[in-house]
Amino acid sequence: MSDDDETDLAYLPAETAYLVEPDQRYDLWKLSYREYLTTTHWDYTRRRALLRAGRQCQRCEATNQRLDVHHLTYDRLGREAERDLVVLCAACHAMEHGLHAA
Ligand SMILES: [Zn+2]
Ligand SMILES: [Zn+2]
Repeated sequence: MSDDDETDLAYLPAETAYLVEPDQRYDLWKLSYREYLTTTHWDYTRRRALLRAGRQCQRCEATNQRLDVHHLTYDRLGREAERDLVVLCAACHAMEHGLHAA
């Protein structure tokens, strides 16, 4: 996936659930979290969050790190609001989950 492809995502509407295959969309709420993270919907949602954050950790502002998109709440899984997600580097993400040793 090139950067050009990711830039195109900026023009997609925030609601991306329609991008999911119809049968997958039906099942989106029933998926395990691990399965959910493999869906097209999550792929777009995650990449849109990274674009919004400017590919920067929203806690420590690191830019040269692998960045994760962390759910602040799972209440809207499958139809996340922008405020439900935060972009974190691996270290900040581990802190968020209380995995200080990792
Ligand atoms: Zn960080
Ligand atoms: Zn997380």
